[in-house]
Amino acid sequence: MSNGGFSSRNGASGASYINGPFQNPITLHPSTQGYIVAQPSSTMTQSKAPLLPAPDNYNFKLYQQAPPMSLYQSPSGSSMPSRSPEGCLEPFAPFQTAVNNHRMLLLPTPQSSSTPPVSNSFCQNLQQPRSRQYEGHTHMGNEVSPNPALGSSLTSMAYSLGTATPPFFCNAPQSPGPPPASASNLPVPAGPYPPQPGQMSKPASTAYPSLEPGYQGIEGVPKPLPMHPPTQPYSSPPQQYQQPSVGPAQLSPSLSALSLQSQTPEALRVVNLLQERNLLPPGPVPAPTPCLPQDLQKLNCSPEVFRSTLTSIPQTQALLSKAKLPLGLLLHPFKDLSQLPVVTSSSIVRCRSCRTYINPFVSFLDQRRWKCNLCYRVNDVPEDFMYNPVSRSYGEPHKRPEIQNATIEFIAPSEYMLRPPQPAVYLFVLDVSHNAVETGYLDVVCQSLLDNLNSLPGDTRTKIGFITFDSMIHFYNLQEGLSQPQMLIVSDIEEIFLPTPDSLLVNLNECKELVRDLLKSLPQMFTKTMETHSALGPALQASFKLMSPTGGRVSVFQTQLPSLGVGALNSREDPNQRASAKDVQHLSPATDFYKKLALDCSGQQVAVDLFLLSAQYSDLATLGCISRYSAGSIYFYPSYHSQHNPAQTERFQKDLKRYLTRKIGFEAVMRIRCTKGLSIHTFHGNFFVRSTDLLSLPNVNPDAGFAVQMSIEENLVDMQVVSFQAALLYTSSKGERRIRVHTMCLPVVNSMSDIFAGADVQAIIGLLASMAVDRSVTASLSDARDAMTNAAIDSLISYRTSVLTIQQPGLLAPACLRLFPLYVLALLKQKAFRTGTSTQLDDRVFAMCQLKYQPLIYLMLMIHPSLYRLDNLTDEGALNVKDRTIPQPRMLQLSVEKLSREGAFLMDTGSEMYLWVGRNCNPTFLKQVLGVQNYVTVPLNMNQLPELDTAESTRTRAFIGWLREQRSFYPVLHIIRDESPLKANFMQNMIEDRTESALSYYEFLLHVQQQVSK
Ligand SMILES: [Zn+2]
Repeated sequence: MSNGGFSSRNGASGASYINGPFQNPITLHPSTQGYIVAQPSSTMTQSKAPLLPAPDNYNFKLYQQAPPMSLYQSPSGSSMPSRSPEGCLEPFAPFQTAVNNHRMLLLPTPQSSSTPPVSNSFCQNLQQPRSRQYEGHTHMGNEVSPNPALGSSLTSMAYSLGTATPPFFCNAPQSPGPPPASASNLPVPAGPYPPQPGQMSKPASTAYPSLEPGYQGIEGVPKPLPMHPPTQPYSSPPQQYQQPSVGPAQLSPSLSALSLQSQTPEALRVVNLLQERNLLPPGPVPAPTPCLPQDLQKLNCSPEVFRSTLTSIPQTQALLSKAKLPLGLLLHPFKDLSQLPVVTSSSIVRCRSCRTYINPFVSFLDQRRWKCNLCYRVNDVPEDFMYNPVSRSYGEPHKRPEIQNATIEFIAPSEYMLRPPQPAVYLFVLDVSHNAVETGYLDVVCQSLLDNLNSLPGDTRTKIGFITFDSMIHFYNLQEGLSQPQMLIVSDIEEIFLPTPDSLLVNLNECKELVRDLLKSLPQMFTKTMETHSALGPALQASFKLMSPTGGRVSVFQTQLPSLGVGALNSREDPNQRASAKDVQHLSPATDFYKKLALDCSGQQVAVDLFLLSAQYSDLATLGCISRYSAGSIYFYPSYHSQHNPAQTERFQKDLKRYLTRKIGFEAVMRIRCTKGLSIHTFHGNFFVRSTDLLSLPNVNPDAGFAVQMSIEENLVDMQVVSFQAALLYTSSKGERRIRVHTMCLPVVNSMSDIFAGADVQAIIGLLASMAVDRSVTASLSDARDAMTNAAIDSLISYRTSVLTIQQPGLLAPACLRLFPLYVLALLKQKAFRTGTSTQLDDRVFAMCQLKYQPLIYLMLMIHPSLYRLDNLTDEGALNVKDRTIPQPRMLQLSVEKLSREGAFLMDTGSEMYLWVGRNCNPTFLKQVLGVQNYVTVPLNMNQLPELDTAESTRTRAFIGWLREQRSFYPVLHIIRDESPLKANFMQNMIEDRTESALSYYEFLLHVQQQVSK
C-alpha cells in the first residue's frame, strides 16, 4: 500500500485552509529525526555538584516541583540509542560500569549485569503455584487464571477453626438491644423501602426480619463495657531488639528501645455491632498508627502514600491465615506532596546485595558500616555519605536526609540511564465522527488545550502532535516554517503507515503558533461530517508508530464503539439482562487487540490515556485494556453532551485542566521490596509487571494508586520489625532522571490480638475491592460478592475464636474493625458489584477500573460517601485555614433516617457532590445560601452556589471549597430536590437502608452474625 491511500479532506470538511495532502510535500532533513535536544549548558555544571548547595539553615531543598536543573548527559548524536527490552530498568548494569571515584564501586559486583542480584525469595516464590490467593493478572500480564478456591475455601477453613476455641469464660449476658424504636421519623418519601425478602449471595436459612431495624434510635443505651483481653498484649516487657550477627553499636534510631506498649487498647475495645449504632467517627476515619517506638514511628512513611492492611505484621503465615485478614500494601507513590526532600548526590547509597536504598530504618554498626533492613547485609558507608549536608559536618551519616526521611527523592546520576532521558511528548488522538462532533466535546478539548498549552509539563524539548479519526486517519503536519497546519489523510486503515513521520510530532515551543491555529480550527473542520464510523484500532496503531521512537503520552478521546478496522467491536450488552441476570457477562475483553497493543506501547515507553465520552455502550471492558496495561488513566463521561449536560461538561473541563497540567513522570518503573521472609505477589492498578516485582509504568501520574498482596514465606521469628520500600524511577518532564523512594517500617507480632489491634479497616477494604474486581472477571460477580461477605464473616469468626476471651452475645468486633461489615455492604452496593439493579455494563466496568487504580483516600469516598447537614452550620469547632473559617459539621450515617425535610444535606462521593434540599428546608438557608425565595424555585439543574454576602453563604462555600481543595480533581456539585432527576443517585448511596434488591445494614449484620455463630 502506498500513497494511493490518501485522499483530500477538503470537500467534506470545508476547511479551506487545510492543504491537500502532499500538495507541498515537505522533505525533512534526516538529521532532524529523533527528538530535539536542547539543553542549557549551565545544567551541566550543576550535575557535577555532589550535593545541593547548602542554604543557611537547611541543606536540602523541599520541592513541590522539579527544580530547574538537569543531570542527564547530552546525547552524543541525533539518533536515538537502540533500546534494549530492559529499557529503563533500575540500573543494575551501570552499577558495575560506572567509573566513579567512589569506593563503593570497588566492592564486588553482582554476578549478572542484567538481572537484579536479588537474594531474597521473591522470584522463587512467584514461580510456585499459589492457591487460596486472589489472583490478579500475572507478572507477564497474561490473563488471570481463575481461582475458584477463594470464597469457599476461606469460609470452610474458617469454620474448621471453630474447633480450636480458646478458653470460654462466661460473662453476664447482655441484652441484644431494646425493642424497635417507635415509628422513626423518616421524612423522605423514597425511603425506607417496603420490606421484602432480601437476596443474599450466600444461601441463608432464616428469613430476614421485616421489621425496621431493632437497634434504631438507641443511641442513649449504654455501650458494652470495654473489655481488654486478659492477655494484655501490650504490657509484655520490652524486648531487646535483636539483630542477627550485629554488633551492639548502632547510630540508627534506637531500635533497642523498641517496646510494644505504646498503642492504646482502644483498637481492641469490643463492639457489639448489633447494639452500637453510631460507628462513624465525627470526621474522616484516621489511619491507624503502627505500634512502634516513637523515634521510629516519627520517621515512618506517611499513610497517605504507603499503607499496610495490617500495621502489625504476623510472625508466620500460619498466624496470618488464622486471622483471616488480607495482607497487602496500598500505595500512592507519586502523590503531590507539599514537602518533598530532594537530594542530589553523585552516588546513591544502596545495599550491595538487594539494592535497597538507604533509609531511616537501616542500622549503623559504626560510622563506616550500615546494615540493610531488608536483607541484613552489612554494607560500607561511602565516603560521601559521611558528610552531612544538613549540619555541614562530617561523621554523622545517621543525620543525612536519607536517614531522616522515609519519603525522599533523588536526582539520579547518569548511571541510572540507559539512554538519555526522553523529552515530554504528548499526542492527542481525537474522535471526529458525526457522533463525536454531535456531543460538542471537541470544542472543550481544544479550548482546554489552548488555555493550558503553556502549562503542559515539559521543557524546551517538549513535543506535541495530533491525530483525528473517523473511518479514516487524519494526521497533521505542524512542522515549523509552514504557514498553516497541513492535514494528511490516510484512508487505508488496513495497513496503517505514517505520512511524513518526522513532522507529525513537533517541538511545542517552536511550533506553538501552528498548534494554536490547529486547535482553533479543529472544532469547525468537522461540523458537517456525516461519517459515522470509528476506526479507533488503526488510529491507535498509528499512534504507536508515531510515539515508538521517543515514548510519551497518548490521550485518546473516543465517543462510541469502534466499528472499522482492527479492534472493531460489537455490542455485547443486552439492556434486558441488566437487572435480571444473576451474573454479569462480558466483564472481560472481547478481543485481546487492545491489550496486545498496550503491551507493545509499554515496551516503547508509551502510555495511553482513554477519555470515553459516550451515550451508548462502548465496551469499556475491552477498550480499557489499552490504558490498563500501558499504565494509562481512564476517564468516563456517560451520556456526555456539552449543551444538554452542563454539570458533566464542567467536570470534563476541570478534569482536563488537571490532566493537562498535573505532574507527569515518563519511562518509569516501580519496584517494591520488602524484608526477607515476606513475599509480594499480586499487583493491582494500571501497569505491566515486567519481572517479579518490577512494574513498568510508561507514564506515572500523581492520581494513580496501586495495591499489592503479600504473603509470609519464611517465619519472621527473629525480627521485631520489617520494612517495605517502594522505589519509583522516572524521567521528569524536565528531562531529569529521578527516584522517589518511600520506606515503611512495621512491627512484627506473634499474637492474634496484636494482629487484630493493628488492622487497618480502610486499607483492608481497598485491597479487598481490588481483589474482588479480579475475581469478578476471572470467576463471576457472585463469587466476588460471596468472597467479600465471607471476608467479613471469616475475620469476625477468627476474632471471636482467637482473640475474645470472654464471650458475650451479639455480633462482636474489635473497635478497629467495627466498620468492616458496613464497608463490605457498601462495596456490595457499589455499581461495580451490585446486582438486581439496572446497571449499564460500561458504568459497572468503569467503577471496577476506579476501584483498581484510585488512591485509597478517594476510593473510600467512593465506597462510603460522607454525609453532612449543611443548613445549620456554625463556627463551633471550625478549622482555621489560611485565615478562612472552615465549619466542621459532623459526619452522618448513610441512612434516610438521618435526613430531615427541614434540612439541607451534602453528600460527598469523591468525584461528585450532592446537596439535597428538603421540602421544608429552613427559609434562611434557601435565601441566604441558595439565593432563592422558596423550595419550588430551586432550579432542577443547579450546579453552583451563588456568592452571597451572608454569613451562611460564606460558611457553606468555605466548607465545600475546603472539601474540594483536598483532592486533585474537581467534584461537581449538584443541588437537588425531590423532583430532580439526580435524586436517585443521591439515594442509592444511602447504603445503610434496604433497597429493592439489597439488604439494609442491620439485615446484613444479622446475616453475618448468623454465619459467625454457626
Ligand atoms: Zn539489602
